[in-house]
Amino acid sequence: MLGSAAGGGLPQWNCGCENCVRARAGDPAVPPRTQPSLALSADGARWSLVNASPDVRHQLANAKGLWPRAGTRDVPLDTVVVTNADIDHVLGLLVLREALPHRIVTTAWIRDALLDHNAAFRLLEPAFHAVKLDEPFLLDRGEALEARLFPVPGKVPTWLAALTPNAPEATLGLRVVDRRSGRRLVVAPGVRSLDSGTWAELAASELRFVDGTFWSADELLRHRPGAPDAIAMGHLPIGGRDGSLARLAGLPGRTLYLHMNNTNPVLDAGSAEAAEVRRLGVEIAMDGMELEL
Ligand SMILES: [Zn+2]
Ligand SMILES: [Zn+2]
Repeated sequence: MLGSAAGGGLPQWNCGCENCVRARAGDPAVPPRTQPSLALSADGARWSLVNASPDVRHQLANAKGLWPRAGTRDVPLDTVVVTNADIDHVLGLLVLREALPHRIVTTAWIRDALLDHNAAFRLLEPAFHAVKLDEPFLLDRGEALEARLFPVPGKVPTWLAALTPNAPEATLGLRVVDRRSGRRLVVAPGVRSLDSGTWAELAASELRFVDGTFWSADELLRHRPGAPDAIAMGHLPIGGRDGSLARLAGLPGRTLYLHMNNTNPVLDAGSAEAAEVRRLGVEIAMDGMELEL
């Protein structure tokens, strides 16, 4: 887990919410977190990223497995999978612009959104590899990790809203199957609702990373007058009767929330909300966490 927070990270530079204040002050219950990204590997030798956050440079500097080989520019990064065109998931692509040893795998919709509306992303054009929804592709140039992108209910990024309508290819989950064991993981950082397709993917996985952006629907409104509610922003809240926690609690295997906004009370390890998540057997992802499928 390279980065477990949503866009802005924790603390967010312009935010004085309680979590950000405590994280800045070094409160051990509210450790700092970077913006959302995961690294996956079948063998510890070749790696792929799920999303490239604005913090990717710092994240890779802390991930020994992803360091270039000494004396070379040979980097064990194979693929960067992009699950939506939100700034916190794609800005790191520009940070990784040198040499482009890697592929960027996403849908044609997301690729075109980036290339057509952001001239800087055209630097990366040769690296893009567009896949259709549910079309299998292999990670790490190996045979072990078979991946697919599937549609989840979401929201077209704010910066694209006026330019292009929403589409099923705009917000994705990633399923990865280890073909050696048959075990699956799913990464779904932006989920507006748990529709039947999304639920089936989560239920069929042994390890799942689920949108934990907000605890409650009005969370941002309490910090910023006029802010939209969580679902309008494309994120199903964790808490409450209709929240994701009530449904995820019963699933076997491991479930982790990721992509937490800095306002989310679960980021305070001592909060009642964090205790509730733990009590129901769900985990809150942390930067630097290593998990084995
Ligand atoms: Zn995001
Ligand atoms: Zn904050």
